[in-house]
Amino acid sequence: MAQASPVDETRRIFDLVATGRARSRSELAAQLGVAASTIGLRVQALLDAGLLQEAGDGTSRGGRRPRMLRIAEDGGCVLTADLGGGHARIGRHSLSGALERVATIPVDLTAGPEPTLSAVCEVFDDLAGGAAVRAIGVGLPGPVDIATGSVDQPSRMPGWPGFRVGEHLRERYGVHVAVDNDANLAALGEHRLQFGLSEHSITVKAGTAIGSGIIVDGHVHRGATGAAGDITHTRIDGSGDIPCSCGNTGCLETVASGASLVRQMRERGRGEVTTTEHVLGLARDADPVATTLVRTAGTHLGQALSGVVNFFNPHAVYLTGSMSASEPFLAAVRSRVYEACHPLVTQRLRIEAAHTGADAIVLGAARLALDGLELPA
Ligand SMILES: [Zn+2]
Repeated sequence: MAQASPVDETRRIFDLVATGRARSRSELAAQLGVAASTIGLRVQALLDAGLLQEAGDGTSRGGRRPRMLRIAEDGGCVLTADLGGGHARIGRHSLSGALERVATIPVDLTAGPEPTLSAVCEVFDDLAGGAAVRAIGVGLPGPVDIATGSVDQPSRMPGWPGFRVGEHLRERYGVHVAVDNDANLAALGEHRLQFGLSEHSITVKAGTAIGSGIIVDGHVHRGATGAAGDITHTRIDGSGDIPCSCGNTGCLETVASGASLVRQMRERGRGEVTTTEHVLGLARDADPVATTLVRTAGTHLGQALSGVVNFFNPHAVYLTGSMSASEPFLAAVRSRVYEACHPLVTQRLRIEAAHTGADAIVLGAARLALDGLELPA
């Protein structure tokens, strides 16, 4: 701790108070192992910046009653947007990252970044309601270049490549803007809810398409080129030679995604099936063909995950997206992973549906934005 920079110390102090793990200067000093005088200085800077406030008196242990610390009530808010193909989910959060209000609006990403972001900003301003905006987080449905806050190779998003989403919003609001892809943010949102800033996990989004995010010690692991967690193009043995969007054949996407379930139903003469939700509904109603296909998809995902789990040894694997609500799917993933992994790797492993549901991405965006919150030194 002695080597931490003033801003690092201030960030740790802010995090501990924001998450309720420390409520007074003495608790902060004890948890951080930093001199009381230093804690006093950093806390005063946070009070002066309007980020923390003092709240009543704590219980005295003989000496002066400690003044309790908490996030400032009028300290402002964090705004987030989860941009999807057809709609955007937009959130207002407290400085602890908790979601206070959420709105969903239709968007058409193919119209390009400026009209989309201008619609988002209208909702941002409405949700902020005049409160100070402290940081912004944005999730985009594709690979993101973190350094520039722009989309990489967005085949589905004409007009977006190279457009600096982060810079555009920073110009308007003058605050830190974090931009990342939706799978990473969903993983971060779920992980921080479960574990905070420690432990390791993988969150797989299994819906019409499949994606995943990796969290190491509470932070997103992006890899050398930002492609870490792209489990969807893992080759599955015995999956046939169905061509994938990536140009290869036999990828996980071609046998375990919601889109592949729809295709397989239709190949079996069920032309009326057009959506992932329809297949999942049929499986819920015990349709034998749909149930078998959903189970097989879970086994394929479990197969792809077992290599990752053996290698990475996470504390948890979370499943999100529409297919995570299917019990036969989840059961098939679990049984394949437990069967294919070394017992040492699975003895404490949790494989479960994510708890953050539809808010995973905005919650993750708020966490990432808060990680970069501009703090007094
Ligand atoms: Zn592929």
